Amino acid sequence: MSKLFIGGQWHVASSQDSIPVFAPATGEQYATIGRGQAEDIDLAVKAARAALAGEWGRLSATERGRTLTRIGVKILDHIDELAGIEARDTGKPLALARKDIEALARYFEFYGGAADKVHGEVLPYLPGYSVTVQREPFGVVGHIIPWNYPAQMLGRTLGPALAMGNTSVVKPAEDACLTSLRVAELAVEAGLPAGVLNIVTGYGREAGAALAEHPGINLITFTGSPQVGTAIQTAAAKNYVKCVLELGGKSPQVVFADADLDKAVPIIVGAIIQNAGQTCSAGSRLLIQREVFDEVVARVAERFCQMRVGAPDSAPDCGPIITKAQFGRVNEFVAYCRDSGLPVLAEGILDAELPSAGYYVRPMMFGPVPRDHRLAREEVFGPVLAVLPFDDEDDAVALANGTEYGLVAAIWTENGARQQRLSRRLEGGQVFINCYGAGGGVELPFGGIRKSGHGREKGFMALEEFSLTKTVVSHHG
Ligand code: NAP
Ligand code: MG
Repeated sequence: MSKLFIGGQWHVASSQDSIPVFAPATGEQYATIGRGQAEDIDLAVKAARAALAGEWGRLSATERGRTLTRIGVKILDHIDELAGIEARDTGKPLALARKDIEALARYFEFYGGAADKVHGEVLPYLPGYSVTVQREPFGVVGHIIPWNYPAQMLGRTLGPALAMGNTSVVKPAEDACLTSLRVAELAVEAGLPAGVLNIVTGYGREAGAALAEHPGINLITFTGSPQVGTAIQTAAAKNYVKCVLELGGKSPQVVFADADLDKAVPIIVGAIIQNAGQTCSAGSRLLIQREVFDEVVARVAERFCQMRVGAPDSAPDCGPIITKAQFGRVNEFVAYCRDSGLPVLAEGILDAELPSAGYYVRPMMFGPVPRDHRLAREEVFGPVLAVLPFDDEDDAVALANGTEYGLVAAIWTENGARQQRLSRRLEGGQVFINCYGAGGGVELPFGGIRKSGHGREKGFMALEEFSLTKTVVSHHG
């Protein structure tokens, strides 16, 4: 299947060229995708523009919502097939891929139900005037999504965009786009008019850049690295359009001496191991109050050492890294940590007979990590946990907020007043108290500050992000 999905049909990329797709579990090539470029993006934007003026633009909010709900049902009807595609494409454990497909369906269900619950406002103004504020679609939305949770990201960004009546051009990551292509096909089967959803696969520097720069785009959303995020924002600025950016993090898990460790330990380990640490909201820094440092380290390390790395279909705790390039980056970072003398607190286990060309890395836990060490500040995007001690509440806040990122934070304490104080003082888009969502929860607004990006996705707030207001002033005397 080396084709692009444009205007409800399969298209050969104008380059006639394709890109090989490798399975992270084995390192073997098993498919190809189309190498879309500027010409294809242009075609897709035109198809999306035409769809705005067609049937889609005339549907009531209720009918739009019903269409999204039907797509959600269709996805659930194909959950085994889609989870299989996702697990093979990304290397993630099959059980996790299944959860991701459930979340994808949930986004369509949630935003399908929400589509006709968004209403405007009536404002008090001068005597003799009536003023309403209405919500309207932006028009054509460009979506550039990454490879770590391709199915979830697709639902997260399409759900609110389509619910508000926009049309979409998606550039999935070349490293994981097979689910998006199948979902686009299913969406049309579920009744989505042709051209409302277009998928152009290709390289970021070609198709991605062409989408970000296209003058026909009215809003652009991007999830990925800060470097590319800056390029997207620059392109958006040149076209005077808004952009929503989600760029990763270095999220802290703050453990106080009074924490319920039985509850905390498995969640702390899961928050870094999930998806082999390739999660923007991974709990990658474990901050522990000094008086319980040794005890918490011992308990987390004990569990960490049991984490098993294996192929997606072997029910592992941790699958392979997505690509050879990311595998190289993670290994380099770990080698740097070892070479710089960071103590190793725990290592996970590699299954005995893993394919030698698969991209498997051992989960690593290092600490105490000096506060100015790269591991304390930079995102690894792999299963690598940095452990740091802190003294008191003020120190914990300074440390937790002390990176360039600000996405998610967790507090582990039984002290209710401290929970309230810290939830106000910790910076980022989500704070978890005695739990960790790793960005989960379709209903929960999510997004960052600083280098983690800006704008909010998920929940009802995303419906505001993906729509414009228009104030209508009427003088009736
Ligand atoms: P990336 O380059 O930022 O990729 C994200 C998306 O942007 C992909 O669809 C990519 O396409 C596209 N892209 C790349 N260059 C582009 C350009 N010049 N213009 C427009 N779009 C472009 O991320 P990566 O290289 O895959 O991973 C690098 C690092 O990014 C990771 O180590 C991690 O730190 C971070 N990351 C964060 C998240 C997150 O959830 N916040 C997700 C993924 C990665 P192609 O992949 O097809 O080139
Ligand atoms: Mg890339």
